[in-house]
Amino acid sequence: TGELMSSTPDIQVNRLEVTRHPNPATPPPSNTLVFGHTFTDHMLTIPWNAVSGWGTPEIKPYGPLSLEPSATVLHYAQTLFEGMKAYRDEQGKVSLFRPDMNMKRMNSSARRIALPVRALALFISTMKERVADAYAYTRRRSTARHCSISSRSSSASTSTGFPKEPGHSLYVRPTLIGTQKAIGVGPPNEALLFVILSPVGPYYAAGFKPVALYGTTEFIRAAPGGTGAYKLGVNYAPGVVPQKAAGALGYSQNLWLHGPDHELTEVGTMNMFVVFSKEDGSMELVTPPLDGMILPGVTRDSVLTLAREHVSGVKQLPNLSENLVVSERSVNMKEIKAAAAAGRLVEMFGAGTAVVISPVNKIGYMGEDLHIPTGEDGMGPVSRPIWTELVGRQWGTIPSEWSVPV
Ligand code: PMP
Repeated sequence: TGELMSSTPDIQVNRLEVTRHPNPATPPPSNTLVFGHTFTDHMLTIPWNAVSGWGTPEIKPYGPLSLEPSATVLHYAQTLFEGMKAYRDEQGKVSLFRPDMNMKRMNSSARRIALPVRALALFISTMKERVADAYAYTRRRSTARHCSISSRSSSASTSTGFPKEPGHSLYVRPTLIGTQKAIGVGPPNEALLFVILSPVGPYYAAGFKPVALYGTTEFIRAAPGGTGAYKLGVNYAPGVVPQKAAGALGYSQNLWLHGPDHELTEVGTMNMFVVFSKEDGSMELVTPPLDGMILPGVTRDSVLTLAREHVSGVKQLPNLSENLVVSERSVNMKEIKAAAAAGRLVEMFGAGTAVVISPVNKIGYMGEDLHIPTGEDGMGPVSRPIWTELVGRQWGTIPSEWSVPV
């Protein structure tokens, strides 16, 4: 079922059609942005059907989609999405961060629910055009407003879809839905891919704020053989009630615990890391392995890669211990409790695109609170140097292949 479109046309970037918004809005001031509540004036859509493959990619005014009530997405949750950020560096150059990773994961999600997959490179280039277009467009508007012919003039960026203030970025949300007009579960014969863009502010505008987790055993996010390793809509609606329950108890996120040993899996909608200090003086950075229950996060992979490159000497990170061991292994609550009691728990953090790194200061578990150390500014001795390198690469202040110009 995976290769639904192998014999039909793939996405054809050169067929892209652009319809400008007749009436572009003035984006709100950047400091009023609420994550995911503001969208740029345009969206990208690419229809697909089983007979003719991918149709005409279109950039057009952001607006409602037209779906029949029988559309399979509305009944059987045939929907998957991605989330990545485009960053603008000091010189105004816009880059996507590791979009190849998101596209790989998007294909993997599509395969899991029998939605069409497509060639990675083509989709990335369509998306790059999409982001570039939004950017060029907002620049053009601003240029007119400022009566300047220099589209690169810095005054042109004050009220664009792409916020300029430090820490702001453009969140890119590609989504793929099954749109077959029929009731009945099966691979849809029609689908729609769309991409919307949301200007976002820094998650932690006022410094890092550590989060308290509720060790959740009465609900699960994922199970062996399930869909936790894919970014499917179906994984998220069932998380709302557990999140509310954790909130009612005074915690901000669920720590999803799996199985009789209460293995730690993920934190809310982030991957998680824990750091132990060992008797031999080394530190161990641990994250659960990709065993089918863990979403293969781009931030997770980036943290692991940076830590491993530090250890192997490919690129040493300032202020990070040289005596570091990097492990993808399972870790359970018994080990966490024992390490906390022995003073060997160094830090714990969540990792994801929206927040990048989110320190944890507490776990509510079986009626008691385990306190997790946090550094002075909220971050610990392993997360801080890794975060510094990671955001440097995201923003382009540290050049790397992870930053893909659009
Ligand atoms: N786990 C879940 C369940 C998520 O939804 C996300 C956000 N995509 C992540 C982890 C982090 O993944 P990434 O680093 O790619 O944002």
